[in-house]
Amino acid sequence: MNNTRRSFLQASAATLASLAMSRPVLASPGKASPHVVVVGAGWGGATCAKYLRLWDPGIRVTLIEPNAHFTSCPMSNWVVGGFQDYNYLIKSYDHLPKHGIKMVRDWVTGVDGEKQLVHTRGGHKIHYDRLVMAPGMEFMTERVEGYAEGAQAQKVMHAFRAGPETLLLRKQLEAMPDGGVFVIASPPPPGRCVSGPYERACVAAHYFKQHKPKSKIIMLDGHIGVVSKGPMFKAAWKELYPGMIEHRPNNLAVGFDHRTMTVSTEFEDVQGDVVNIIPLQRAPQICKDAGLRNDALDRWCRVDFVTYESTSVPKVHVIGDPIMSNMPKSAHVSNNQAKICAAAIIELFHGRQPNPVPVIGSTSYSVTSDKTSGAIAVVMRYDPVNKVYVRQPQGGANPLHSELDFAYGLAWHENMWADALG
Ligand SMILES: Cc1cc2nc3c(=O)[nH]c(=O)nc-3n(C[C@H](O)[C@H](O)[C@H](O)COP(=O)(O)OP(=O)(O)OC[C@H]3O[C@@H](n4cnc5c(N)ncnc54)[C@H](O)[C@@H]3O)c2cc1C
Repeated sequence: MNNTRRSFLQASAATLASLAMSRPVLASPGKASPHVVVVGAGWGGATCAKYLRLWDPGIRVTLIEPNAHFTSCPMSNWVVGGFQDYNYLIKSYDHLPKHGIKMVRDWVTGVDGEKQLVHTRGGHKIHYDRLVMAPGMEFMTERVEGYAEGAQAQKVMHAFRAGPETLLLRKQLEAMPDGGVFVIASPPPPGRCVSGPYERACVAAHYFKQHKPKSKIIMLDGHIGVVSKGPMFKAAWKELYPGMIEHRPNNLAVGFDHRTMTVSTEFEDVQGDVVNIIPLQRAPQICKDAGLRNDALDRWCRVDFVTYESTSVPKVHVIGDPIMSNMPKSAHVSNNQAKICAAAIIELFHGRQPNPVPVIGSTSYSVTSDKTSGAIAVVMRYDPVNKVYVRQPQGGANPLHSELDFAYGLAWHENMWADALG
């Protein structure tokens, strides 16, 4: 028997055993249909809620999100670079109720895994049969001494959660004098969109080249090299912005003094006119309080990769940025995980076995100017024996940026928004 078949049978046996222990929750005459509550209407949560309803209209779905509209992180660097309007990032949630999703505009304050209840700031107590947590990530700002004071004084920001900070960073770059220094400090993986800081260096350099050609960008990188699309970014920097971007690897920011605008790493102090520090990240506090943030370093949530059910709290699934895995933390991956999770929940409600070997696809585009992008495409298949997603042959990063990839990237964004929110 080959390995794939053996893995499949072993995984099937394990899932069937767990199914035998949990009875199907199906609507029957006189019984309410099963209820899934989804926390967070970002890339993961909105997709999961929508696909649960599309694939099984018999399931009731409640989606809880505090914001009135969706604001996209993908493409937010275009706004930082000044070649996209901020309003373009803002998308409506209006289509989601048309799929029969009940949207609740509120902030989830707690999860009671035993009673299967979600508590909200607005005083709601909502019962679930299955809960999907998709609250994104939070920043470990305490790991950069002085960050909180600097952020309060609006002298530093991460701009890694699209919103007001995206615009503030853009305004700071506009106000920076020609000959100024823009410092970008990024953490090592795992974290949200590891290519985002390098893309940000490109868009800032693109702007400086036209309007402030004496300016410079210093990248303090917590990783040992350019984590993602390395050859492509380095070639683009050399070709389009020679001498403008200085990349200093192995240089994690650990402090910031907003009075002198100085970033400290373990090796040096660097002064900037505009400072953008992206701190280390972890699953949000709500995940910790619910007992979901359960890895050894108290950073991420461990899940069963077939169902995305938490390894510590039954009937609670976690998708997107907060999970511990070797998958990229990206919108595309959150969207894929959301569909795998939705399909698995439907199978579990029906007492059937979820797909034991799910496949994740991730394509990521990074702009290098207002006309060119670089791309990477990866397919990963779950290996149920080793319990890890394994990268499949083919695909990978294109070492060259191009106008064609820019066009593909634009289409990717439009398709992804339509898939999650349309
Ligand atoms: C500059 C930048 C560029 C990027 N570019 C790309 C790209 O080109 N391609 C790509 O694939 N990815 C990209 N990403 C990464 C992508 O944005 C994230 O990986 C993705 O947003 C993660 O999706 P998520 O659903 O886990 O979290 P999010 O999209 O952050 O959604 C979380 C949602 O949960 C809500 N929420 C949080 N806490 C609560 C609570 N207690 N109660 C109720 N709701 C709550 C939030 O309001 C939010 O709406 C980029 C990121 C950045 C910063």
